[in-house]
Amino acid sequence: MIPTLCYIALGSNQGDPVAKANSAISVLSAHPDLTVTSVSSLYRSAPMGPQDQPDYINAVLAIETHLDAIELLDALQQIELEHGRERKDERWGPRTLDLDILLFGQETINNPRLTVPHYGMKVREFVIYPLLEIAPQLVLPCGTSLISLADNCDRNGLEVYNL
Ligand code: ATP
Ligand code: MG
Ligand code: MG
Repeated sequence: MIPTLCYIALGSNQGDPVAKANSAISVLSAHPDLTVTSVSSLYRSAPMGPQDQPDYINAVLAIETHLDAIELLDALQQIELEHGRERKDERWGPRTLDLDILLFGQETINNPRLTVPHYGMKVREFVIYPLLEIAPQLVLPCGTSLISLADNCDRNGLEVYNL
């Protein structure tokens, strides 16, 4: 069977976010059910929602997997927990690690646990620009090209993170 090409968004702004991001990338790369095929640079972005929290470190990964979408979500949530993620009531509050499924092949998924394509990916600069780095030709299931999303998306201070 042919594996599904998926894109995963990574974000962290607590507990040494750069170390957390690198650790998550290592764990994803070592995962027996996932093959990481590309990883963007790390980026630094301003927080969404509550502004009284540190900047975020973000990245996007391309992976191939034979898991189904819910199994992939389970695997990602397990990795979040291993990196100290606590589920809090506050939306978009600080977190040690967030791993979101942006795309699962060309599938459109709407169930109580999973919305794919990720509902924010068309407007979030910290998703669009890292994704553009690793998949410049990408077209969403709706037919919208990633490049056209970037043309309409302010960078909002987003920059490649350099030590
Ligand atoms: P946002 O979704 O706005 O980026 P968030 O990533 O902080 O916010 P979480 O607390 O990580 O939100 O996830 C809340 C729930 O979102 C998860 O329990 C999961 O079931 C659901 N969810 C729906 N669609 C997705 C998706 N594409 N990727 C990851 N989680 C998703
Ligand atoms: Mg998220
Ligand atoms: Mg999430």
